[in-house]
Amino acid sequence: MGTHETGSVLSLVGVSKTYDGAQKPALDQVSFSVKPGEFFSILGPSGSGKTTILRTVAGFEKPDTGQIVMAGEVVNSVAPNKRDVRTVFQSYALFPHLTVRENVEYPLRMKGEAKPTRRTKAEEALALTEMATFADRFPHQLSGGQRQRAALARSIVSRPRLLLLDEPLAALDLRLRQQMQHTLVALQKELGIAFMYVTHDQGEALSMSDRVVVLQDGKIAQLATPREIYFAPQNEFVSRFVGRSNLVAVNFEPTDTGFVGRVEGIKVPGLTAKKGGTARMAIRYEAIQVKPLDEAEGAPDTIPGVVEDVLFLGTNCEVNVRCGGVNLIGTVPAVRHSTFTVGQPVKVAFDAANTQVFHD
Ligand code: ADP
Ligand code: MG
Repeated sequence: MGTHETGSVLSLVGVSKTYDGAQKPALDQVSFSVKPGEFFSILGPSGSGKTTILRTVAGFEKPDTGQIVMAGEVVNSVAPNKRDVRTVFQSYALFPHLTVRENVEYPLRMKGEAKPTRRTKAEEALALTEMATFADRFPHQLSGGQRQRAALARSIVSRPRLLLLDEPLAALDLRLRQQMQHTLVALQKELGIAFMYVTHDQGEALSMSDRVVVLQDGKIAQLATPREIYFAPQNEFVSRFVGRSNLVAVNFEPTDTGFVGRVEGIKVPGLTAKKGGTARMAIRYEAIQVKPLDEAEGAPDTIPGVVEDVLFLGTNCEVNVRCGGVNLIGTVPAVRHSTFTVGQPVKVAFDAANTQVFHD
């Protein structure tokens, strides 16, 4: 690393930060670049350092080491209001005594723009966020979702090159959150502004982003596209944190051509490796097939088990099968009358191509 990609809106180069009195760093050698117009997400559990990255980029925190580079210039010592970024927080931080329109115009007024231009730009931002009809209301006369849209309008009105969003939808209910996800993606594409979006919600990160960085304890666990993160997690942490996976012990034994894996003593022919010994394997719930005994008859490579419980989730069911010493959970399509009952003997199969193996 050491250098940043030219043409990036933002680069972090080896950024580390330990808060006063803290035992371990909040950020540990974090490096990545955000491209112009990219929807870039930072995904990680609570305390992994997401907000610290955002505050460092916005200029509210200073890195101990490393560089924050914006449009080719190191900005470590540049004041927050002199950086070409805006931030949208979970708490909307609107001025209560100003109307929506006045709130949206505020950043332009600070910049000394003339009233007619302010008006035009505010109208445009309000239209983009579907807030035009609420322009003359005060914040307390709005719902949570409308307040978040007003805050969004205010943050884009001056067209920064980079918009930082810190869990902006966390306070909204599920339906509004989904609606706002669509709004944000459409808005981002229309504006062409790079978004750096912080969330602990893997669904949000996967559905909206061009690329996602997964954080674990202040370090980058993986940086990739949503599909790569989902289908090819680089390590056990990512496979646990993103999507729903079984993690099972595998033992790889030598054969004539390489090594073949055994799960619960059963050889899984498609499951091969270049080295022997014990490993852990992640298999997504949807990659597991659960078959009633009669259907599984004669099918090779299946692991026998007994249904321990079944969760009905609407579009599908999760069937938890006890196979000797391990449990394997598989997703099956939900049908009106359940195919599986507790205590039923079944066979479990999976496609080795859909697994990720992490050697011990
Ligand atoms: P996230 O946003 O992913 O939940 P944060 O960036 O807020 O994580 O926090 C990362 C780590 O830094 C956590 O261990 C947190 O307790 C610590 N931390 C955050 N802010 C401060 C602060 N102002 N002073 C001391 N420690 C802090
Ligand atoms: Mg946070």
